[in-house]
Amino acid sequence: MLDLTGISVVDNHCHPVLLDQRMDSLQFRRCFTEATDPSFPEKHVANAVYYLWLLRQMATFYGCERTEEDILAARNKLDADTLLEHLLRAANIDTLILDPAYPPGPECYAPERMGQLGHCRAAKMLRLETLMQRLIVEYDDFDEVAERYSMEVSNARERGYCALKSIVAYRTGLDIAEWHKDEAATSFAEARLAIRNEQLRIAHKPLLDYLLHIAFRHAAEQELPVQFHTGYGDSDTDMRLGNPLHLRDVLERSDYHSMPIVLLHESYPYCQLGAYLAAIYPHVYFDLSYTIPFVDKLEMLAFTRQALSVAPASKLMYSTDGINVPEMHWAGALRGRSVIGQVLNEMIDADEIDEEQAQHIAQQILRGTAYSVYRL
Ligand SMILES: [Zn+2]
Repeated sequence: MLDLTGISVVDNHCHPVLLDQRMDSLQFRRCFTEATDPSFPEKHVANAVYYLWLLRQMATFYGCERTEEDILAARNKLDADTLLEHLLRAANIDTLILDPAYPPGPECYAPERMGQLGHCRAAKMLRLETLMQRLIVEYDDFDEVAERYSMEVSNARERGYCALKSIVAYRTGLDIAEWHKDEAATSFAEARLAIRNEQLRIAHKPLLDYLLHIAFRHAAEQELPVQFHTGYGDSDTDMRLGNPLHLRDVLERSDYHSMPIVLLHESYPYCQLGAYLAAIYPHVYFDLSYTIPFVDKLEMLAFTRQALSVAPASKLMYSTDGINVPEMHWAGALRGRSVIGQVLNEMIDADEIDEEQAQHIAQQILRGTAYSVYRL
């Protein structure tokens, strides 16, 4: 049997955790569903297989009874710093690549502090829609917004970002089109009218697509990776438009081929389609996330098999998408190593690979591919 516990992971997509970690059961459960309706934490999360598995792991880790009440009491005894340090260290993390745009900054740990507590490196990405929203609220002139946005993206690498990220999948969809500047300007005027209390939720397709293309040009110039949310997400998502096949026009543009593209969240449930794209396009990579989407181990085995069956390991990268509580970053590392190990064992048994090759593939998925894609 392969033992992957010694391989320290690069979590290529995750988020900061909250400063306030004291939670009752409803608050804690709320972290473990993408559904926004209150009936889920109240009635359903405690009956989900992935949550039952997590509680058992936590009981072992905290050395307490297996009831949710006892487990939360044990974790609430620890101050947040200690909780983070214990869990992140136990996860054996080499690097966290964080999207600091969510949760909002004042509520959560800064990337640097998470790195200190986890005894690991913390890198960060720039979320494009957050930058767009800030500039559109700040400036009422379209040319000025486009110019400032272009400038901020053009020197992203110098400003310490190792990737860009887009959530267009759950705003207007992955079918990113090319629009004339006049159409984008009209869309900008509509977006300005949608500002409430100095806040904007950008969902204005010509404008959003137009600004994304500006970012793609700069990313290609800097050879800077762009992560795309694909598939599974909260109820904002129109799952039909989260299918990564919608990215075809962007993927086909030869002037964008120096921009590595990372399809996040194994494009769940479009896993085969996303892995297929990574197998066909030289600049497409496929993220295998082991905490979110919230699915059980059998489903994780399925998507890991699908990805490894079609895409080379040099196109696959481990992550957790951990957010809010450090149990997510920790549990994902346990799960990722165990699931990848089990699938590779199956492949050894099927005489597809030998043990040495399996070790090498595990290294690539858990850290090696990310090291080269993000130039860590
Ligand atoms: Zn995320």
